[in-house]
Amino acid sequence: MNGKQFLHRKSAFGYNRCFNARTILLLFLLAISLNVSGCKKNEIPGPGSQLMASKRVAVPGAPRYSDVCFSSRWKHPANAADTLQTFPVAAAFHASRLDWVYNDDKTWIQEVKKRGYQYGGTVNANLPDTKGGQTLGRILDSGGARLTAPWMEGWGVFWGCVNSDDYRATYLAHTKRLIDAGADFIQVDDPRMNMAAMAWGGCYCSFCKSKAAASGATVKDIQKASVEDFFKDMGKQLDAYAGHHVPFSSNNYNSDWTSPYHLFDFGMAELPVKEANPQIIYAKFKATEKLGKAQVFTFVSEDVNFTRRVIATSYASGGHLIVPWDVYLKSTPTGSVRYYGRPEEYADLYGFVRGNAALMDGYEDAAVSGKNLTDSRYSKPFVTITGGSEEVYAFIRTIPEKTNQAIALHLVEWGTHAEPFSVSLDMSGMGIDKDWEFTLLLPDAYSKNKHDQAEATGDYARLIKSTSLKPQIQDNRVILEIPALSPYAIIKIKKQ
Ligand SMILES: [Zn+2]
Repeated sequence: MNGKQFLHRKSAFGYNRCFNARTILLLFLLAISLNVSGCKKNEIPGPGSQLMASKRVAVPGAPRYSDVCFSSRWKHPANAADTLQTFPVAAAFHASRLDWVYNDDKTWIQEVKKRGYQYGGTVNANLPDTKGGQTLGRILDSGGARLTAPWMEGWGVFWGCVNSDDYRATYLAHTKRLIDAGADFIQVDDPRMNMAAMAWGGCYCSFCKSKAAASGATVKDIQKASVEDFFKDMGKQLDAYAGHHVPFSSNNYNSDWTSPYHLFDFGMAELPVKEANPQIIYAKFKATEKLGKAQVFTFVSEDVNFTRRVIATSYASGGHLIVPWDVYLKSTPTGSVRYYGRPEEYADLYGFVRGNAALMDGYEDAAVSGKNLTDSRYSKPFVTITGGSEEVYAFIRTIPEKTNQAIALHLVEWGTHAEPFSVSLDMSGMGIDKDWEFTLLLPDAYSKNKHDQAEATGDYARLIKSTSLKPQIQDNRVILEIPALSPYAIIKIKKQ
């Protein structure tokens, strides 16, 4: 879908983005208080530690923390003239999943699965009739004309009505086809459907008019409940068809969990540039986690260093940023202009997370600190950073309910001029002592040959530069000297 237009549509609906941000921060504060009260005493990394991480509810279909989400929005090459290639590029970025792909061809999806990827197919609000065309069960205006989204004018597509038996049949046919083809989960683009169409003058189809008349309501009154009923009912039917729960995600712009987005297992959507800072990224992933959901973001920027900071902060917060390749930039009369990042710009970060799977999967948020990032779970930060750009952020992640485990301290540089800095760790607070091992893990500088070998062997650890750090002890604190980051590092803290 068209991200920019979606933003405009939100404004048209009177959504206030500041209000949304405040709401999320409030949710986050609530989450923190729940975390503290619900923490068990044994949720500690080492003897005497005050660090607390809570177990997270498993979210169906959501990526593991070390997964690399890649969205070839369509299959490439699509034809003989297409120079893009899905599989070589996915491999170059070390993808583990293909997410949000518009393709339901069984032969191709079986090839995707054979190559070891999880596959997420996509449906949207304007699925074609099974016999082709866009005629059956469409949203109609009061004059009986088919409607489409304002940003799709001229594309020859028309939105389907959730109350129409015909469109329900169309939706089921498309989703069953994806299940039959081997899709592991399904992304729904534009899930507001009839709720969105109210602003464009719909829907006045016979199904909506009869449904409204039966309850003495207007067609506008029934649409929110109708959309919710649609997804609940379709979900039940598809689970029964598949014989297991079919995970669904939705395009919930900016991590919106209001109706109908709350009905989906997880969200996969654009993070707006204005909200891309460490405080808000962390708060959004944290608020999502408290709702028992998961969020995967896409990001629209051609600023490579900015995007790298967002990638690193997402992973450090327990979230994901889809590889910036095939990303929507702007709409055109025939489609969109898209951005294709290069492996030499981002693959070092994605290879780094694959190589650190053992330090990421199973780990949960235990503490954070940094400029304007205060952790209200604790009276004082366990990590303080001095020197450098003063814009390095720390994210401590531990395995809940396990003692004497390795602690993962993620560090992300947000300063535009990265400089060396010192990390100071509270020994008693973290339950560590000077004899623990402190290992600095950095993404190794990009080399195509090295990355090709790592992908061929599955040994991503070779993409990590590992250095043993020599701790200095001062006033019950461990002091570690860290070089300038570009922009990501993990310090592995482990009992010897
Ligand atoms: Zn209708």
